[in-house]
Amino acid sequence: MASKAAKPCNPKEVLLDELCEVLRKSFPSEIMTKEYINALSSLNILFPGISVGALDILDKGHVFRLQTNMGRHIHQVVGNGGQLYYIFNVDVPCCSCAVFKNNMTKSNPTSIPSSYCQHLLAAAIAGRLDRVTTKTISENNFLQIVTSFMVDTEYT
Ligand SMILES: [Zn+2]
Repeated sequence: MASKAAKPCNPKEVLLDELCEVLRKSFPSEIMTKEYINALSSLNILFPGISVGALDILDKGHVFRLQTNMGRHIHQVVGNGGQLYYIFNVDVPCCSCAVFKNNMTKSNPTSIPSSYCQHLLAAAIAGRLDRVTTKTISENNFLQIVTSFMVDTEYT
């Protein structure tokens, strides 16, 4: 079964939950069902321009949960160009990439939960499909990542 956190109330999150459930049922199979193809198609409509990149990241297994022995964690996504991006949950999920920052500055703050980049989408799908690989990192490494994220980010 999927490990789900609180039930999402954002319409995109609800649809993403439903689409991922279809993808989950079909995942290990090589056979593409009509439902599977419809789910991929809907994903592309729901997240235009980023769904293909997100699925590519997912297929490569490039979504990681970096966890310390103290239980602190962040998600790391390897972008399609090989760059490392970090995803933090600061009220809502935030990505360290330029696209996400750009979306944040252009959008109304109330629409932030529906702002996705391909890294956030890849992490959201990977979480729902249990395709996140956990790596252990040190507390120092965790703090370095968080500090660099906060320094580079101006979410005000
Ligand atoms: Zn991103």
